[in-house]
Amino acid sequence: MGKELETVIGLEVHVQLDTKSKIFCSCSTGFGALPNTNICPVCCGYPGVLPVLNKKALFLALRVCLALNCRVNRRIYFERKNYFYPDLPKNYQISQYALPLGEDGFLLIPSGREIRIKRVHLEEDAGKLIHRKDYSLVDFNRAGIPLLEIVSYPDINSPQEAFDYLTQLKLTLQYIGASTCDMEKGYLRCDANISLRKKGESKLGTKVELKNMNTFRGVRDALEYEVKRQTKIIEKGDKIYQETRLWDSSQGKTFSMRRKEEAHDYRYFPEPDLVDFKIEEEWLEKERSLIGELPLTRKKRILKDYQLQEGEAEVVVSSKWLADFFEEACVYFKDYKKIASWLIGPFLEIFYAEGGDWDKVKVTPKNFSKVVRYFSTGKLNNLGAKKVLAKIFTTNADVDKVIEEEGLVQVSCEEELTKFVDEAIVANPNPVNDYLKGKQQAVMFLVGWVMKKSRGKANPKVVREILEKKLREKGGKDG
Ligand SMILES: [Zn+2]
Repeated sequence: MGKELETVIGLEVHVQLDTKSKIFCSCSTGFGALPNTNICPVCCGYPGVLPVLNKKALFLALRVCLALNCRVNRRIYFERKNYFYPDLPKNYQISQYALPLGEDGFLLIPSGREIRIKRVHLEEDAGKLIHRKDYSLVDFNRAGIPLLEIVSYPDINSPQEAFDYLTQLKLTLQYIGASTCDMEKGYLRCDANISLRKKGESKLGTKVELKNMNTFRGVRDALEYEVKRQTKIIEKGDKIYQETRLWDSSQGKTFSMRRKEEAHDYRYFPEPDLVDFKIEEEWLEKERSLIGELPLTRKKRILKDYQLQEGEAEVVVSSKWLADFFEEACVYFKDYKKIASWLIGPFLEIFYAEGGDWDKVKVTPKNFSKVVRYFSTGKLNNLGAKKVLAKIFTTNADVDKVIEEEGLVQVSCEEELTKFVDEAIVANPNPVNDYLKGKQQAVMFLVGWVMKKSRGKANPKVVREILEKKLREKGGKDG
């Protein structure tokens, strides 16, 4: 083995555009409907029906092209991609081939590299086969769902870079409102091409296509497996076959699905039932104005404007919802660090415990900032503030009312706390002795005891001060 090998990866992403109805008919795109209830003669390809292009799907697709820095082709027409498969009711898929909507764009990833985008085109999804033991069923609910296919150039040099590209692409699509990218619902799917070549060579090696990865981690794992598998073959001097391989996440391996001896002939031709048309300049201007701040730009600005740490800013911009919430909360309480740490910590903890659905969060940024402020000024201790936040999370109830109802105002009054401390010393002779013998951490047990006794209301800082003072006095007396 002479020269080192280099990995070359290209990704093909299918993303479902966020529309209420399908791309060529008015059937609902709603998820989870009973099989074959969101269908009509158009998406089922009955003879004589005519497709009508969904405007919203076209405009969202244009927005994506612009956000991905693509050149938008001004003349639009669709083509029929012909093939036979039971999940394809028309025996052809309406797609774009010779003239995609967008071409030659790029996506900037966090490392600073620009991954070039080869093409972005609109098409319709097929149905879904459900295989039983000795028969198969077909559900056409997905037939006609608007998809955008986004194909990168083979610019990606490692499985990790593929992961970063996908993460950034997903975030971008979510930020501009083009797709929810919900992978569990199949709203974003990814296939990968991978080949190896000797470093410095310009000719691409034989590429292998990978399918069946359901998560970004799955894509990374499958690519890592392929790098190892192909390296071994090349180092032995054997041949890589051009083929499609399926990722099996349970075994952590890829398996050959089919060798590509014959290239598919889809007999593309222009869809005669949809006229070609021109993309107007004003449509582009409108969509450009709706893109807004993209995630990487926003992260940079948030780092600067709020003096957060890199890792904090990363979490804050990891969802547009969260970034919007953060910035609004900062309007009401100017301790940005505290807002960020309460958002990344307790807020997200409750969010995931509640099922991780932004629609379920009812607390407003204003009310959230109030809880953080009360914590900062000592009105609430850590535990109390978390309790209040949990209480108002899905109700947005009045913060002051909750504090009153729950009796959560932090007790910092020395007189009151001294009573608790005296009790703690009497009730816990062993930890007290430990402390007096020099075991400093025994004091934490006593603080905990007081916190429990006060039902979480005591100010732990003040309790500790009183405790240490009392124990010093006691130590002086006894010793
Ligand atoms: Zn339909």
